[in-house]
Amino acid sequence: PADMDEITAIAKKHGLLVIEDACQAFGASYKGRPVGSIGDAACFSFFPTKNLGTLGDGGMVTISDPDAARQLRTLRTHGTSKKYFHDKIGFNSRLDELHAAAL
Ligand SMILES: *Cc1c(COP(=O)(O)O)cnc(C)c1O
Repeated sequence: PADMDEITAIAKKHGLLVIEDACQAFGASYKGRPVGSIGDAACFSFFPTKNLGTLGDGGMVTISDPDAARQLRTLRTHGTSKKYFHDKIGFNSRLDELHAAAL
């Protein structure tokens, strides 16, 4: 992993969020903390060529802020928080059962 202490310090100094690119870092840790739990959010890739790949595109976000997590859940299901009510423009980013089974 990158020097997360230094990155976190720079982000704090400038009021920035830290988004970890942990796409192929499953199982890695930094000073005893698993990657994906250090920044404000982290992204993991399940693309077929990755070290944890599924049959097509897929990925995962880890995030600590509950409000931001709610926003992401809404965005991944076409911007809907309640079935058939679209509060915002989102996208289809659910991981289907076949891909989940492959993972
Ligand atoms: C693959 C990869 C990405 C992009 O992931 P996608 O699932 O293709 O969007 C970004 N960062 C790293 C380190 C990667 O290995």
